[in-house]
Formats: sequence, structure tokens, C-alpha cells
Amino acid sequence: MNDDCIFCKIVGKQIPAVLVYEDDKVLAFNDVNPQAPVHVLVIPKAHITTVAELEDMSVIKDLFAVMKKVAEEKGIDKTGYRIVVNHGKDSGQAVPHLHFHLLGGRSLHWPPG
Ligand code: 5GP
Ligand code: ZN
Repeated sequence: MNDDCIFCKIVGKQIPAVLVYEDDKVLAFNDVNPQAPVHVLVIPKAHITTVAELEDMSVIKDLFAVMKKVAEEKGIDKTGYRIVVNHGKDSGQAVPHLHFHLLGGRSLHWPPG
């Protein structure tokens, strides 16, 4: 838990969010500024700043299992979806708590800007 971190505050229920999935390690919630009809953020509950700080790779397995489940529940597993992780300044990463964007429900442009 990092006291200055927005996503840690969502994990701690100090800031409200529309939760999509929760277990002891992973939380998924709707992005407050959705870029697609389905835009869910999937995060480890532990405060890991970026992919560059990932040491325990089992976290990735947990996150992907949840993304697969959420995609199925949201009905985008057949139509398709995109998983995005931003890291650092050039990516525009705004929140320094590792998060996976799960985007779907519309045709997504490629390449991203
Ligand atoms: P990044 O640019 O760091 O990859 O993405 C951060 C994402 O977090 C953005 O899509 C932004 O809309 C979302 N976000 C930022 N603050 C909040 C918040 O307080 N609640 C929710 N649900 N999403 C947030
Ligand atoms: Zn955090």
C-alpha cells in the first residue's frame, strides 16, 4: 500500500470505483474515463509501480487469468479486445501502479497514437 497512490486507495476502498472483479491478489474496475464501451483496468493489489519493477512474474499469470474471465463476462471474447500496459514517460503512463487496460466493444485502431 502506497499512501499517495490512487489505485492503492481504490484497493483500500478509500476511493470509489465500479468493481468488476476482486480476489485476494487482483482487482478489476471500470476506467473512470473509458476509451471504449468496455474499458476495465486490471491491477495487482500489491503496489508495483511499473512492469520494470516486476519481480514476481506469477502476478502476470493472475492478471491474465482475470482479464480472460472479464473479457468473457463482458462478451468481448468473440468480438476481440486489446490489452495495453503503459510504462514510463513516453507511453503517457499517468498512474504509477501497474495496470492493464482491457479495451473492447468497438473496432480499435492500429497502430495506436
Ligand atoms: P495510464 O495512462 O497510467 O496507463 O492509465 C491510467 C488510467 O487510469 C487512465 O485511463 C485513467 O482514466 C484511469 N484513472 C485515473 N484515475 C482514476 C480513478 O480515480 N478511478 C478510475 N476508475 N480510473 C482512473
Ligand atoms: Zn499503488
